[in-house]
Amino acid sequence: MPKAHEAIISNEDFEIVQDLLKVDTRAVSGEKKAHIYAGLLLCGDCMEPMTRRINRYKGRETVAFICSTQNNGGSCSRHAISEEDLNFLVLTGLRQQVALFLDKSRVLEKIEQMEIHFEEVAAFDKEIQKLHGEQDKYLNLRAALYEDLKKGIITEEDFKNFREIYEKRYRELQKSISSQEETIKKLFQSGITAGINLERMKNVMQITALDRTTLISFVKRILVYEDKRVYLELRYKELFSKMLMLEDYVLTEQQKEKEAV
Ligand SMILES: [Zn+2]
Repeated sequence: MPKAHEAIISNEDFEIVQDLLKVDTRAVSGEKKAHIYAGLLLCGDCMEPMTRRINRYKGRETVAFICSTQNNGGSCSRHAISEEDLNFLVLTGLRQQVALFLDKSRVLEKIEQMEIHFEEVAAFDKEIQKLHGEQDKYLNLRAALYEDLKKGIITEEDFKNFREIYEKRYRELQKSISSQEETIKKLFQSGITAGINLERMKNVMQITALDRTTLISFVKRILVYEDKRVYLELRYKELFSKMLMLEDYVLTEQQKEKEAV
């Protein structure tokens, strides 16, 4: 992510705009106007895009989505869902998740009152602990390589190859750790507003119909399964999981305080 963009818009917004551009450019080159779900709707089973179908019957127009693999004669089932049903399910699902998010976001107010240090929370985080554990594993593997080379069990070439693999994996893990720490820091520094527009979230609770910008702001992709089952993948997944971790941390700390009294 180029640093220059940070001054203008948040990373989250930057990502949203990028996604919008990608999808809308595709729509232009295909000479079809981007519909509200363009680029977001996938068949949950074959993971190919859903095709939009307009049916006209006795002057009435209905819109439905079906799996494009099935539409092109491939081996998947229809996964048919009407636009009307989809609109209802997506809006309802989005509201439920946003309500839960807003509810959980209160934990951040408690955190501010508690004067917690970032390092304590990062150490408490189970996901980060697990990543550090994996890093140690690769450090040990690398140390064992030196031993094997000294004893003549492996060749110099094997040694170099494996060392490269282990070090690459170690760096990848470091990247994951940094990204997770970054998310926690975001929540600390300016609360939830650093990554999320809380006002926009509250607005979602009021609207009666979805528009493309709202949809793109919250939803990364929508998976459609048979029997009109719909799965929403939200943009704020990582932030949300860290918020739950913070809640867990606060509860644990409060429990400790009680026991100490
Ligand atoms: Zn399919």
